[in-house]
Amino acid sequence: MDSFPQLAWLIAAICFIISLGGLSKHETARRGNLFGIVGMALAIIAAFFAGIPGGYTLLILALVVGSIGGAFLATRVEMTAMPQLVAILHSFVGLAAVLVGLSVYCSDWHFDETLNGWVGPDMIHMIEIFIGVFIGGLTFTGSVIAWGKLDGKIKSKPLMIPGRHLLNLLMLLVCIGLGGWFLNTSTGVGIWPLILMLIIAFVFGAHLVMAIGGADMPVVVSMLNSYSGWAAAATGFMLSNDLLIITGALVGSSGAILSYIMCHAMNRSFVSVILGGFGTDSSAPVARVDDGVVKTHTSTTSAEVAQMLKDAKEVIVIPGYGMAVAQAQHPIREITEVLQKNGTRTRFGIHPVAGRLPGHMNVLLAEARLPYDLVLEMDEINDDFPATDVVLVVGANDIVNPGALDDPSSPIYGMPVLEAWKASQVVVFKRSMGSGYSGVDNPLFYNENTDMLFGDAKKSADEILQELRQ
Ligand code: NDP
Repeated sequence: MDSFPQLAWLIAAICFIISLGGLSKHETARRGNLFGIVGMALAIIAAFFAGIPGGYTLLILALVVGSIGGAFLATRVEMTAMPQLVAILHSFVGLAAVLVGLSVYCSDWHFDETLNGWVGPDMIHMIEIFIGVFIGGLTFTGSVIAWGKLDGKIKSKPLMIPGRHLLNLLMLLVCIGLGGWFLNTSTGVGIWPLILMLIIAFVFGAHLVMAIGGADMPVVVSMLNSYSGWAAAATGFMLSNDLLIITGALVGSSGAILSYIMCHAMNRSFVSVILGGFGTDSSAPVARVDDGVVKTHTSTTSAEVAQMLKDAKEVIVIPGYGMAVAQAQHPIREITEVLQKNGTRTRFGIHPVAGRLPGHMNVLLAEARLPYDLVLEMDEINDDFPATDVVLVVGANDIVNPGALDDPSSPIYGMPVLEAWKASQVVVFKRSMGSGYSGVDNPLFYNENTDMLFGDAKKSADEILQELRQ
């Protein structure tokens, strides 16, 4: 029976690997999720057989509190609040690594009567504890700040303290110095450098994420995802738990790969994201001034948009965060069905950072049961805009901002975007002329071939659907 937990954890680890593989494609995502659930259930069951230091009462209590809390959050959370939820869950992983590190360190030190002296963790274990607490500490506060920024509780604008890079370097060097002190302690007095380092790691994590803002936030989310994985792996080392090591390494490396993909999508280097300072404060511009000329926008009605769609042969829909807020994916799918029946080719263009979570739009469209073959990545569809009659920009803003390509003074300059303006006609569904997440004005709205369709995206889509069906 002793080997059961090890075997079960190995199977659980395999389930997690298959799960990750499944989650990489729409068609297999459901199966991937199922493997994840089976793996997690196995891991929990095996924990009951592994001999729990705190006894079963504690384990059952933790399980009940965790399950009720998880079920409550999962049923209550709005799809648009998922990024904040993910960020706060990352903070729990960081906090767990910190608490495990501190408790392992304290419980490992004991007075050995035969040796007549204090015996503590060996050098390797001390290194694991120090690194685990460091990563856990910065993941914890970094994730809490990311939660605040994504939830709008903290301004998205990057905090630019003068000499901040020097400050970061200094904090890192002090932590390394404290590590040296920690490893050279021969009694439980090492708790002091450990706690001092933890305080610095808390400040370091918070400062790192405070300095990042605006359109760089997607990378922060995936980066903290990666950190939380490494924190879990560190916890696994501290507890000598293979499953935690494997799972942590999987999350850590997949988060790192995702961060790389997001950086690539935004044409930013990972280092420049970490160093921060990208993006501006959110504001709501109403008119644009170019070379002294005040540019204005034109607005349209649902009936006019329905007529444009009836006359069109090629349509591309660009969904963004506003579609998630409005929950407009269902009427948009129905519009697509009507158009397809009328012989109008209708496809969807997905920007890698659309919405507030990697894959946010794909999830919404899958939920609305839109056929996967109509959903194309930015690189697959960007060349098709010049041959497109109508582009529907549904609650998207930053991801269709031409300034990212042609305005070097734009804070999002260099980020590849969906080149909607190259189509014959563009319709933007939104409620006002306000800016998107990065707080940057969007010149697309003032183009001659752009019409603004003001109002909640779901309401507008419902009206267009009605018109199309008449
Ligand atoms: P944006 O945030 O740029 O724009 C969304 C637009 O939706 C707003 O301009 C808003 O305008 C409109 N909107 C909001 N609610 C509604 C509604 N009910 N009906 C109609 N329109 C609505 O979103 P994008 O998807 O274009 O770009 C994503 C941005 O988020 C990028 O800057 C990205 O870097 C950032 N980000 C992405 C993350 C990710 O992982 N994908 C994570 C964190 C940040 P109005 O208020 O006028 O209606």
